[in-house]
This record gives sequence, structure tokens and C-alpha cells, in this order.
Amino acid sequence: MAVDSTLSSAVGASVSEKDAKALQLIEEMTKNVDSVQERILGEILSRNADTEYLKRFQLNGATDRDTFKSKVPVVTYEDLQPEIQRIANGDKSPILSSHPISEFLTSSGTSAGERKLMPTIHEELNRRQLLYSLLMPVMNLYVPGLDKGKGLYFLFIKAETKTPGGLLARPVLTSYYKSDHFKSRPYDPFNVYTSPNETILCPDSIQSMYAQMLCGLIMREEVLRVGAVFASGLLKAIRFLQVNWKQFAHDIETGTLNPKVTDPSVRECMSKILKPNPELAAFITKECSEENWECIITRIWPNTKYLDVIVTGAMAQYIPTLEYYSGGLPMACTMYASSECYFGLNLKPMCKPSEVSYTIMPNMAYFEFLPHDDSSAQDSSRDSPPSLVDLADLEVGKEYELIVTTYAGLCRYRVGDILRVTGFHNAAPQFRFIRRKNVLLSIDFDKTDESELQQAIENASVLLKEFNTSVVEYTSYADTKQIPGHYVIYWELFVKDAANAPTDEVLSQCCFQMEESLNVVYRQCRVADSIGPLEIRVVKNGTFEELMDYAISRGASINQYKVPRCVSFTPIMELLDSRVVSKHFSPALPHWTPERRR
Ligand code: AMP
Repeated sequence: MAVDSTLSSAVGASVSEKDAKALQLIEEMTKNVDSVQERILGEILSRNADTEYLKRFQLNGATDRDTFKSKVPVVTYEDLQPEIQRIANGDKSPILSSHPISEFLTSSGTSAGERKLMPTIHEELNRRQLLYSLLMPVMNLYVPGLDKGKGLYFLFIKAETKTPGGLLARPVLTSYYKSDHFKSRPYDPFNVYTSPNETILCPDSIQSMYAQMLCGLIMREEVLRVGAVFASGLLKAIRFLQVNWKQFAHDIETGTLNPKVTDPSVRECMSKILKPNPELAAFITKECSEENWECIITRIWPNTKYLDVIVTGAMAQYIPTLEYYSGGLPMACTMYASSECYFGLNLKPMCKPSEVSYTIMPNMAYFEFLPHDDSSAQDSSRDSPPSLVDLADLEVGKEYELIVTTYAGLCRYRVGDILRVTGFHNAAPQFRFIRRKNVLLSIDFDKTDESELQQAIENASVLLKEFNTSVVEYTSYADTKQIPGHYVIYWELFVKDAANAPTDEVLSQCCFQMEESLNVVYRQCRVADSIGPLEIRVVKNGTFEELMDYAISRGASINQYKVPRCVSFTPIMELLDSRVVSKHFSPALPHWTPERRR
């Protein structure tokens, strides 16, 4: 069916009725950004008018933008923590939202070392579902025939906990995969996964990965796209194959499932899929036993048309590795979302990773933008609200910090993402994800900021005291050349008594102490083996002075020079690495349990 849609006409595609509806919705929303935003804010403010939070600002029933902007402050998670804590403790009064808080979504962003808790309400699932429902119609415009096969997606649920008041706290995707929206989704030939629900919903991530990979291998010829949410997840799956291929070949050859997979529902569903197939087992053995794993994805799944993984933001560091394993398959970054709110989608999903822009859907929440300028102080004070710009009024080329007001009761909440406007689709601005504010190091879901790194280094350097040694300078690097990636910390030490210098054992303990000090998401990723042991590289005395000389030779001002606390620029890495005198690794996993410490 042909539709009146700039999207489909742009690529000259004729589309199914279902897709046409989705594309029309995108067109409608993006053409009427401002009026949709006005309506969404009105809806949120009128339904939440009697919440304790909004009453505090005396809107007196007003639902218009001007009143809202003049009376309601821009806030951070820390500002809302008292309210969030009360909800977590069981206060069911309408504090932030008039609709009951159905659960907390645990963000990978942290506050005081713990995951942030984002309140959500039941109907938000519909909004998330709506955004998901737009992805394939857009993809179908660019990649025909996706109904002729399956998607091999590595999807996982994670540990969930309960707050003291009994509300569930779990990651947004765990919430979604466990919902009926996902579990009882109607059959859609464009969205058939190789992984049965039972394998995705298996709480043991190793058994889950094992079963999902096994299904992917068995159905290898049907696979048309391979993906995970983030690039790090897909690379973890490749590494899992590298470690376990002999066992997979054995299972496929004999038609029996590895006894280490003990989950009864996984065993049951796998018994219907797994049949002896010596030919396939021989093929897997041949491909995986080769030293060279270049193009392994296309060798094993030869019909793959694209990888479906987010490689924007912190995940861009994985592009070269993914290119290596996939022989340069396109990488589709389809959507931009968070625990607070799902934001939008990429209307040109087959573009190069460096060109990805997301279009925020104006019906997901009310969005405002704080002009971002690195040189100006960015801490907004409650007394003088910064002037925020509306979605419809943004300027191409400028950078902004994203602020959301959600149905679940976050009002003018700073998400912490910095976005640059790259253009418009109809009246809707499109955004390049630039970076997350204050994040220094990230390998997987972890986000470590400068003060967390500083604190970890202070805690670790206590161990050096008895050796009369101190850390004079440091910097860091997220090393993702190998899977899993790991944090590298460069230390320049001042050793007062060379005869009593800290030993390798002591410095390894420093690595461990740093890991113990890092936030809960880091520690969880370590325990889940998606981050490798932290490494300290001790560099020769004077190395950081050389670093400064180098920066100055490239135009940095002596007065303003600050040691970069994270480096990635190749010449700097080369300089640092050429001055390394010793390397030390964390000898053990840091402490992590699903329970919150507070
Ligand atoms: P979480 O709070 O754990 O759900 O993480 C949400 C954050 O992940 C967002 O605020 C972004 O910083 C990041 N993120 C989500 N989607 C993307 C994307 N498509 N590209 C880059 N970063 C993303």
C-alpha cells in the first residue's frame, strides 16, 4: 500500500497497512511537534495537579507552559531523592504522580554509588510499546524481506529487588520483557526471534545466553539480523561463543542439552528445538576452531543483513571490533531511550554510526532543553531557573542538555544527556547523542564519573601509606580492545623509600580496593564478567609532566592546563604506554549483591 508519508516516499517504498499506520503516526507527531507537546504537558499537569510535588509550586490548576516554566524548578535526581525514598519506603500518597507508582526502574546512572530509582506507572508500558512498534516499520523501508527470517537478539533479564515498601526495583528492559506486552505479543512475521521467551526470561544470565546462542546456531540460516541492546552485549555473546563453542558443537551433534543448563522451562523449550545435527556440529567446529575470527558473524549467520545494536555514545568504542567480527555489516542504532522515559527513534537506521540522529517523539513526554555550553557554569540554581528551550524551538548545530517531564511524575528532570541538533524531520528536531554529562569511563552499562574515580583512587592509595608512597598523578582509560574491556588507571607514584616500595601484591590490592570503591553498576558488571579486572599501570616519574608538555605543544594554555582524568587520544596513549614500568591487575571480584546498601 502506498502512503502519504515523507518517510516512505523518500525511499520509494510501498508498505503494509500496519506499517503505513505507524509511519503516519510518525509523520503526524513530527509535523505537529509544538501542539503535541503543549497537549502532553497539559495532560501531565492536569492529572498530577493534586500531587504533593506540584501543589508545592502553586500552579493553582494552571496547565500552560508559561506558568509551568515560571514556577516549577529544574531538578536533578538528588533533588528528588527524599520523595523517591518515601515512595520506596511505602508511602502510597500521591507524592509525584496521581497514578500509583507501579514499580521503580533501576537506572544504570548512579547516585551516591547506588543505582538511581526511577518511578514509573503502569501505563508507561504502553508508551514504550508504542515506540517499539515504530521501529520495524521504519526498518522495513530500508531493508526488504525481514519477514522471511528471524532476528538473533541476545536479550536478558536482570536481578530484581524490592524496596522496603514492597515495590519492585528492576531495570526497564527486565520490566518490559516480563510484561504481557512482550510475553504475549501477537505474532508478527517481521519480528520473529530465534530466542524463545523462556530463554530470554531465564533469570540465570549464563544459562540464558547459552540457550539463546544455541538457538541462534541451530537456526543459523534463518537469521537475517543479529543484535543486542548495546554493542557491548553483542560482543559479550561473541566471546561466549569463543569460550563455549565446543560444548555447543557437542550439544548439536548429540541433540542433548548441556546439563549445566538446569532451568526447567529452558530445558523444556530447548528439547523441542534441539535435534542431533552432526553436519551443523562439524560446521561450527570448523569455523570456531579457526584462529582467525574475522567475519565470524557472517560466516556463521551468512544471511545477516545488519547488526541491530546501539553504537552511539559510549558504545562507539566498539565499532571497530564489531566491524571486524561482522565484515563491516551495517550497524543499525534504532532507538534512544532511558529508564526515565523512552525518547525517540532513528528514522534512517541504516546510516553510518557517525551519522546517527534520533528523532524525539513528542508524544512520549514533555521535553525541554538546556542550552549546553561547556564554558559556562552549568549548575542551575533553584532561585534563577535557567531558560529552557522547547522541542519545537531548537537550533541546528547547537548542543543542549535534555530535560523531561513525564507522566510518572518527574518534572523538569535533568536526564544528563548532551545532544546536538543535526536537522529536522518535518518540524521535529533530530539529535546526535554527544555524551552523557560527567561520565569519564564506561565499558558496559557502567558509568563512572570523575569524583567516583577520584574517591576510588583515594581509597586505594591508603594501602600505599605504610610504604611511604603516594599517588602524585593519575589518569584513566577504558580499554575495550579485548572483550571484556577493562579500566586502566595510570599512576605516577612518589616512592620515598625505594627499598620499601610497594610490591606487586600491594598494587594488585590497590586495584581491588578501587573496584570495591566503584559504584554498584560497575561492580555488578564485573561480577557478570562484562568488565575485566581493573588494571593499574605505574608510569615512570615525570611522565605527567611530559603529558603536559605535549598538551602545551598542541596549544593548551599553561595556566589552564589540567591533567585529563581520562584519555583516549592515540598519541597520548602511546606516550603513557611507553613510560609504563609495571602493570597490576585486580586479583578478585568486588563485592556485589542485588540488595541496595542503603
Ligand atoms: P538507563 O538510565 O540505564 O536506562 O540509561 C539511559 C541512558 O543510556 C541514556 O540517558 C543515555 O545516556 C544512554 N543511551 C540510551 N540510548 C542511547 C543511544 N541510542 N545512544 C547513546 N546513548 C544512549
